[in-house]
Amino acid sequence: MVAVPTTGRPGADADVIVVGAGPAGSTAATHLTRAGLDVLLLEKSTFPRPKVCGDGLTPRGVKQLIDLGIDCSEEAGWLHNRGLRVLGGGVSLELEWPTLATFPDFGAVRPRQDFDELLVRHAEKAGARLHEETTVTQAVTDERTGRVVGVTGHVGKGKDRRPVTFRAPLTLACDGVSARLALSIGMAKRDDRPMGVAVRRYYRSPRTHDDYLESHLELWDRTDPAQPQLLPGYGWIFGMGDGTSNVGLGILSTSRAYGSTDYRALLRSWLDGTPEEWGFREENAEGPVGGAALPMGFNRTPHYRPGMLLVGDAGGMVNPFNGEGIAYAMESAAIAARCAVQSAARRGPAAEKALESYPTQMRQELGGYYRIGTVFSRLIGNPTVMGLATRHGLPRRTLMEFLLKLLANLYDPKDGATSDRVITAMTRLAPSA
Ligand SMILES: Cc1cc2nc3c(=O)[nH]c(=O)nc-3n(C[C@H](O)[C@H](O)[C@H](O)COP(=O)(O)OP(=O)(O)OC[C@H]3O[C@@H](n4cnc5c(N)ncnc54)[C@H](O)[C@@H]3O)c2cc1C
Repeated sequence: MVAVPTTGRPGADADVIVVGAGPAGSTAATHLTRAGLDVLLLEKSTFPRPKVCGDGLTPRGVKQLIDLGIDCSEEAGWLHNRGLRVLGGGVSLELEWPTLATFPDFGAVRPRQDFDELLVRHAEKAGARLHEETTVTQAVTDERTGRVVGVTGHVGKGKDRRPVTFRAPLTLACDGVSARLALSIGMAKRDDRPMGVAVRRYYRSPRTHDDYLESHLELWDRTDPAQPQLLPGYGWIFGMGDGTSNVGLGILSTSRAYGSTDYRALLRSWLDGTPEEWGFREENAEGPVGGAALPMGFNRTPHYRPGMLLVGDAGGMVNPFNGEGIAYAMESAAIAARCAVQSAARRGPAAEKALESYPTQMRQELGGYYRIGTVFSRLIGNPTVMGLATRHGLPRRTLMEFLLKLLANLYDPKDGATSDRVITAMTRLAPSA
């Protein structure tokens, strides 16, 4: 018998506790408070804070910002991009973002230091109660039912540090790839789903005003010069518009080289091969190389455990085709918020049903697509397949335009062009991840 949440329950500190104020947490908090719920947003750091990322948004991410009512114009500080430039096999191809009903036709770039603060202030403005310097260490569960009924952790630093406990009928785990909350109740990651590793660094560069996101498909590991290996992943160069470029690379776990590669050395060796005038040399570097893991293809499930929803990276929501995570963190947050709002307005088993529908909705939205992405990541883990795809795929513009739609998940599921209908059919036929 599952205990059922009741809004305004005596002893509760909020209607919903949101742990982590990255894109997932701040988006969820905004949607929830706008619907009238009392939200406690707990964040271990203080804003503004840096976050290792490529800082790039495809139109899928921009759509989420527009849905939140955020001004995404260039006047408001966003550097727009019009598409993706893909390089590989001696070819360079510029592909415009498609014109669709579902998504805008531009992407954007903004440093995460700035982006995450903007989102969290938006949540605060909507009414969320932000507690910074509050580190959650574990979920509190009801002894009898096992249901998550709150969180514990500590607030402050050093000798001012003190323990805290908060209670609420529902907790959203938006704590990123570390997934501390999920781990505290024994939810390990799934090994049958791909992971990625990505590293990035900022460089002062004359390429700072690029209006395309640039992606380099040929990453060679030359650790053994006699046997250079083509790696499954790509390098990126995103102009930031402020005199710098964000330059990095991401590799999938499906290659033999995963785990044994020195990613910082790989970044160095790739950049040393780029033209000198682009500026990607030590003397132009700003700050250190940063890196982190990319949890992909729903690598932590189920996304609902009684009393708690996993949102964003905590639920392994990164797209296995392209490593994009911000859009999916925000999308899953919007869906989780809708389920939470429905649940809070009900009593008894009907309230529970609304929460249980979250994983179902996530599967409907992305399950088939992520299943294909998982297969794709295994295929390109084979250097021969990766080499063939780069050499023979890139020179064919129509094929690449189709692949852009597939890899960036940018198509109209209803009444779209032929290529959109093909992708829709593929994702519907694939069993949900
Ligand atoms: C090198 C690199 C480049 C990337 N480039 C891109 C890109 O260009 N575009 C893109 O879309 N995606 C990119 N990603 C992926 C993207 O960064 C993530 O998918 C995205 O940040 C996920 O958002 P989130 O809110 O789920 O998690 P996070 O952004 O990780 O936010 C989690 C928040 O929770 C807080 N937190 C964590 N643990 C606790 C705790 N115990 N208690 C309290 N607070 C806690 C953290 O401080 C943080 O604020 C990249 C990732 C890497 C590593």
